[in-house]
Amino acid sequence: MSEYLPNIIFVSILFFGLYFFVRNLNRLYRNINLGKEINTRDNKKQRLLNMCKIALGQGKIIKRPVSGILHVIVYIGFIVINIELLEIVLDGLLGTHRLFSNYLGSLYGYLIATFELLAVLVIISVSIFWIRRNVIKIKRFFGDNMKGWPKNDANFILYFEVILMTLFITMNAADLRFQEMNSGNLISSYVADFFKGYSNDSLHIIERVCWWAHIIGILIFMNYLYFSKHLHILLAFPNTYFAKLNNLGEINNLNSVTKEVKLMMDPDMAFSNDGTDSEEIEKFGASDVMDLNKLQLLNSYSCTECGRCTSVCPANITGKKLSPRKIMMDTRDRIEEVGKNIDMNKDVFVPDGKSLLNDYISKEELWACTSCNACVEECPISIDPLSIILDMRRYLVMEESSAPLELNNMMSNIENNGAPWPYNQMDRLNWKE
Ligand code: SF4
Ligand code: SF4
Repeated sequence: MSEYLPNIIFVSILFFGLYFFVRNLNRLYRNINLGKEINTRDNKKQRLLNMCKIALGQGKIIKRPVSGILHVIVYIGFIVINIELLEIVLDGLLGTHRLFSNYLGSLYGYLIATFELLAVLVIISVSIFWIRRNVIKIKRFFGDNMKGWPKNDANFILYFEVILMTLFITMNAADLRFQEMNSGNLISSYVADFFKGYSNDSLHIIERVCWWAHIIGILIFMNYLYFSKHLHILLAFPNTYFAKLNNLGEINNLNSVTKEVKLMMDPDMAFSNDGTDSEEIEKFGASDVMDLNKLQLLNSYSCTECGRCTSVCPANITGKKLSPRKIMMDTRDRIEEVGKNIDMNKDVFVPDGKSLLNDYISKEELWACTSCNACVEECPISIDPLSIILDMRRYLVMEESSAPLELNNMMSNIENNGAPWPYNQMDRLNWKE
């Protein structure tokens, strides 16, 4: 029985790690589905292409070459090295040691050597990220909404990646010396020199400790994702697939307005055949997260908090309160708050007297937006902060009639004079005189 103890412990750890991971994914799915339906079933080929180009191919992130290339190294390194995770899981389940080496022969050594090279590149890239963030203090990583958890989260994940990669290399090095091999494991053969003179027992313990810490670390990492901006590792794919395909300047029609106009033209539409109200009156625009659509909520969970959007936002650059990154972070914070409310109240949302508007995002922020789309253009994973801003403004104008005075004047002029200027249509060409 005791010979199977490591396997039993491994299966238990794996089970709990995956159980909590799936539970978090379910919660995420439920929260995103609190949003309104949106049609994203059109043009599947184009959507797939966008996903391959932007999420898989990292097409937009490379626009800023320094951070872009470093990000690509970490991304590729992390994905490729995790192929080795498959071997760890199989070894843990079957009680084998380096299972793939039995089948791949000398290719195995080259494969591990490649993984190790990538692991070192990841460590270098992550160290540069840390320096950019904490020593050079690049402006876009800072701001009022980047204190506390968002700041710590960004650093935690960098430490996490260094620890995982170091464990991987140390595990290989200890194993190499233990087996007295001189294979082509490029990096670990250098590290193995540090273990000269260690007894076999010590080497075995080091290798095992690293092995267990590596797999436990990866399971912790997977479960940490839900609480971190690094959820984008998973969500960048659906986010780029479902992203809007229309031209950037194109603003969607509000279904609620279309319905209202149709009702004005045909009041009978308000009643079904049995004479009762056929549809609930819809709200115009959005004041809370449930008024947003599913894509907007998916956007909020996908945001990497990189601040590229805010760094190009003309409103932010000229000192206004608006930050498109904050719009996305606030939306995520609010949908999380709503989700917890539902969890605590047996799957029903109990009104908490709060809303996205005012409690998270102020009118001042919303009206500072020039609707230039620079943030949408800049986002490396096709997030659209402007669509949330526009929906919330629509609510302010159509439900609360609380547009700024200048806009109210302009809208009255359009209504009365057919143009934004305060002149009678007949006087429009007076300037010629
Ligand atoms: S659309 Fe609005 S939020 Fe986005 S960059 Fe332009 S001004 Fe800023
Ligand atoms: S919206 Fe896009 S650009 Fe802005 S912080 Fe999030 S991921 Fe970065």
